[in-house]
Amino acid sequence: MEPLRKKYRLTLVVIILILGGLSSLAFLLLSFQIEAVYEKNIEASIIDVKKTFLKDNVDNLILTIDQERQAQETLFARLNQLAETALDGYYIYNPDAFLEQAILYFEDPIRQTYLTVLIADSATSRILYSENLSDVDQSLTFFEKTEQLTPLMTSSVKKDYGSYQVFFGVRQSRVAEIVEQNIRQLIHASRFSNDAYFWVNEVVSFEGGDNYAIRLIHPNLKDTEGQLLSTNMTDVQGNFPYLEELEGVKGSGEIFYTYFFKKLNSDVVSEKLSYARLYPDYNWIVAMGVHLDDISSYVSAATAESNQKIMWLLLGLIGFIFVLIVILTVAMSRIEGWYYRNSEQELKAAVYLDPLTQTYNRRAGNECLEKTFKTYKHAGESPAFIMIDIDGFKIVNDECGHDVGDEVLIKLATVINQHIRGKDKLFRWGGEEFLLVCQGLKEDDIEVFTTKLLEVAASFYYDCCGQSRRITVSMGVSYCSPGDTDEKDVIKRADQGLYEAKKAGKNRSCYIRP
Ligand code: GH3
Ligand code: MG
Ligand code: MG
Repeated sequence: MEPLRKKYRLTLVVIILILGGLSSLAFLLLSFQIEAVYEKNIEASIIDVKKTFLKDNVDNLILTIDQERQAQETLFARLNQLAETALDGYYIYNPDAFLEQAILYFEDPIRQTYLTVLIADSATSRILYSENLSDVDQSLTFFEKTEQLTPLMTSSVKKDYGSYQVFFGVRQSRVAEIVEQNIRQLIHASRFSNDAYFWVNEVVSFEGGDNYAIRLIHPNLKDTEGQLLSTNMTDVQGNFPYLEELEGVKGSGEIFYTYFFKKLNSDVVSEKLSYARLYPDYNWIVAMGVHLDDISSYVSAATAESNQKIMWLLLGLIGFIFVLIVILTVAMSRIEGWYYRNSEQELKAAVYLDPLTQTYNRRAGNECLEKTFKTYKHAGESPAFIMIDIDGFKIVNDECGHDVGDEVLIKLATVINQHIRGKDKLFRWGGEEFLLVCQGLKEDDIEVFTTKLLEVAASFYYDCCGQSRRITVSMGVSYCSPGDTDEKDVIKRADQGLYEAKKAGKNRSCYIRP
């Protein structure tokens, strides 16, 4: 391959490689960007699922707390009712022994545990019996004490029994203690697959600061239950989770927030997403959290598949570029070959064809003669050489014009070509002279063949100033002979034959034997 062709093929391949490389790069960059968006969306979806999980669980726990509280309140309302019924019975059946029996009734250990009791003398207001009243100012009157106690009660009874004033009931704080106990048991026993757990803090001061809350229930740090908390506490990253939690529940009653905290049953500290909601009746912040360090494994599991697809696509793209280079190279060489063949043909036509008659020219004739003579020398078989010359052609030119002369030349070449075989070749030897080389034409057949040629030459008419005319030709025939030194000797004999034919009166052929 010439250096120029090599160079431009190489340039084309380099251009395709650069374009292919650039598009692969663009594809990769785009894939990475899409993957980043994809990862972000997966992460957001996982966080959404986690949030829903946290909120549902906390909401359910608050419902449970509320139900537990109502159940306890109903139970204590029933306890009060029973107490009232008992006192009513004591008073009706024996008013004199009322105080004694009432005290006996309230001194029962279970009632002592739950009930706040106050019995006073109606006339003197003197306190005759009290239970769970240590936190109330003893100097207050019965009325003042009951005024102070009533709002603290979940249910209470205040009743006069003759000369006795009786007040009893269950404090809300007592109910809260029981609810707290039961909920603690529930929370400590709860198990969640993702190491999530509930915890409850009781807010003492919504102003925040040190000792703003008590850690009420915390299954991950059971030993610290009852400990006081501070909004100034920070996690390992310097976040203020307690402050954020307090501000959140103060604002809208609930908050999602993240911070760093120790994992359940482990010393590993990792980022945690939590949801906290205020249970306002008890000032409890009920919360639940999950660690976020599992997100990356979810995301990488999800992206592994898409990464694989991207790699396959990229390989496909590279393969496509490779196939493109191969196809282009093959196509280029085919097109080049076709182009070269065509231009070679055109070149050959320009070199070997006579532009007027489109027969082979003398140059082609000489080459053919040389080759044929060599073959003859080698194989001993000679074609017939027939030199054909138009008779009185000068007159045609003179009388009908040069153009008509040209037309006659074209027509003669055409009719001869129509009557010879594929292997035979017609050359314009010069002027109005043609050389016909007929392969395989035997000496015995030459007479018949040349007679046919005379007919062929005379078969067409040409127009000369409105007059239809015909031409005749004369021919000289020769064959190669063992005595010939080169092809010129054969042509010489053909020329001589032609001369003889002219001399003999034209429109005939003459075969000159060696
Ligand atoms: P003869 O019968 O003896 O062959 O007579 P002639 O007139 O054919 O012979 P001559 O050789 O004197 O004339 C040949 C003429 O052919 C002379 C020349 O002007 C003419 N001629 C040669 N080439 C062309 C050509 O390409 N076109 C035309 N129209 N005429 C040509
Ligand atoms: Mg001539
Ligand atoms: Mg002539």
